[in-house]
Amino acid sequence: MKRIKIGLMLILMLMTFMLVGCKEEADDTEVNDSLTNDELQNSDIEEKVVERWKPELKSPDISSDSLYVTKVNNLNDDFIFGMDVSSVLSLENGGVKYYDFDGKETDLFQVLALNGVNYIRVRVWNDPFDANGNGYGGGNCDINTAVEIGKRATKAGQKLLVDFHYSDFWADPAKQMVPKAWQGMVIDDKVEALYQYTKESLQKLKDANVDVGMVQVGNESNGMLCGEKIWMNIYKLMDAGSRAIREVYPGALVAVHFANPEKVTNYADYAKKLNYYSLDYDVFASSYYPYWHGTLENLAAVLNDVTDKYGKKVMVAETSYAYTPLDTDFYGNTISDSGAIVKNYPMTVQGQANCLRDVVNTVVNDMKAGIGVFYWEGAWISAGGSTYEENAAKWEKYGSGWAASYAKGYDPKDAGQYYGGCACDNQTFFDQYGKPLESLKVFGLMKKGNVVEVKPDAIADTLLEFDLNGDIYLPDTVNAVMTDNSKREVAVTWQKIDKNVMKSSGPKKYDVLGEAGGMTAHAYVNMVEFNFLKNHSFEEGENNWVAVANKKMDELYCEDKKTDSLTGTKHYHFWSGASDTVDFTLEQEVENLPAGKYKYTISIMGGDTGEQEIYSYVKINDEIVLTKNLKITSYGEWDTQVIEGFEYNGTDKIAVGIYVKCKGAGNGAWGKIDDALLNSMK
Ligand code: CA
Repeated sequence: MKRIKIGLMLILMLMTFMLVGCKEEADDTEVNDSLTNDELQNSDIEEKVVERWKPELKSPDISSDSLYVTKVNNLNDDFIFGMDVSSVLSLENGGVKYYDFDGKETDLFQVLALNGVNYIRVRVWNDPFDANGNGYGGGNCDINTAVEIGKRATKAGQKLLVDFHYSDFWADPAKQMVPKAWQGMVIDDKVEALYQYTKESLQKLKDANVDVGMVQVGNESNGMLCGEKIWMNIYKLMDAGSRAIREVYPGALVAVHFANPEKVTNYADYAKKLNYYSLDYDVFASSYYPYWHGTLENLAAVLNDVTDKYGKKVMVAETSYAYTPLDTDFYGNTISDSGAIVKNYPMTVQGQANCLRDVVNTVVNDMKAGIGVFYWEGAWISAGGSTYEENAAKWEKYGSGWAASYAKGYDPKDAGQYYGGCACDNQTFFDQYGKPLESLKVFGLMKKGNVVEVKPDAIADTLLEFDLNGDIYLPDTVNAVMTDNSKREVAVTWQKIDKNVMKSSGPKKYDVLGEAGGMTAHAYVNMVEFNFLKNHSFEEGENNWVAVANKKMDELYCEDKKTDSLTGTKHYHFWSGASDTVDFTLEQEVENLPAGKYKYTISIMGGDTGEQEIYSYVKINDEIVLTKNLKITSYGEWDTQVIEGFEYNGTDKIAVGIYVKCKGAGNGAWGKIDDALLNSMK
């Protein structure tokens, strides 16, 4: 019933939408012609546009019977729910289509607006084309692309954030390359060029009646911008951009944008420098990718510090989270962990929504002057081909991959080597066919919250290791992340396993499937010959072992040298130059060993020895009860000996070790000890 009702409601809503939409087409010219630039500046267009699209766009009526959304308190209507969709035109040119929740093909901006996205962000590169006019990719986003995107956003009632990279291609903390046309300019000329470029670019947007609400002077400009690395020059460039923005769009906010809030002193340093030079700006913006950029608490703290000291507004200019670990376009993704649960959220549609909700909640409730959150490239889906080759052809032709081969000349080190498709198509709000994911509704549902039945959303893998001679037991419950992002243990039913077969088949790994809360659970069972010794291969140094030299030896220690180790990189090393001074024991006391039958194994190699007495031993209550002789001969010749089949009662004090006594020959006896094993036997 509920589903039908919702369906009807959506259809009604869409019909209204379509009717209004048609009317709007007809009115378009009239509205634009009848408004002067000054009137537009005074955001008349915003009101007029919103009026044309209301009431759906202003108060989206969104409902979901499956997406759980925890309410964000104190969320005002003017909060920015932004999305960067810079790649959209390249995707559409290559045939990509977007759909609404009824499966009807629709304009991307409209479906975003209907679901509560009220701001669009677009990156702008000066000249992302080679000498033959081939695009560098990443949406080939020059100012003309931004104008087209801006027009469509404005038509859908959304404001535009213009993100000037001041480069011909991607600018980020690792690179801030100067545009080709500005290469070799002295700073004052570059400042003038940047000022003119910003002014002309914004004028193009203004001439197209685009509702620009905010402009960024630089993208993730962590101590670098447009090829400049000293702050006085960075300031001069940002100042030129800021002046141009104030002139063309006096109502727009001027934003600076940085990344890596987890480096906790950086933002204070950047803000202090901008304040020192008196940069005229309004918003201090940060990227926040949860898997790289520290905690939300830290993000709020470093941005609040900027607000406290300099009175700036703050926001998250980029964030995103994966709804699936899978790739959809045959080009590997930056985030693709195969585990079901990563960091704080599962890589699920619900996990993506919960992650964004928590970022918004932090900006609204934990930041003193938080104005909004922009989701990064929420519509950058697969180019649409069914093979790598088909997609690669589209990436090259339309620029819908992160970089095309044509970017080689400008960016030989990065794009020139790794050019290809989209590395974030698993972090979008649309599936690979352009159908919206339920998580898209989170924008519209945050204000009221959406409390639905809480269910398991992801089941954590259960990792188990059992001794071949011990018991095998699978747990009754598994850890689950619920749709409300709480963690719970839920009951699990495992498939039937044959314990006898598992115990008699030697060391082996098993993937046991189960059912928990309607989802598939995995128990990865590793059947091993369990070693009851700790640090058995000396990889943790001397931990758990006690070496006692009976004479003064030259060298007796754990050595880190892979070529001299039996396994791993470390082993226990001994050497003494004097002819008869190698005389020591190396021993480990075994705690909590269950009663049973055991075997003890150890290996040694060495050389340059005369007479030798070497044996491994088992000690019960400080008395050696069993020994086995070993020999050292020459480099690389490991001698491995086993003390087989001794009974242990479970209560006595027990230790195992090796005794080594050698006379030297030539430069003195030396040797290496490695891989001590204490295994149970049937
Ligand atoms: Ca991909």
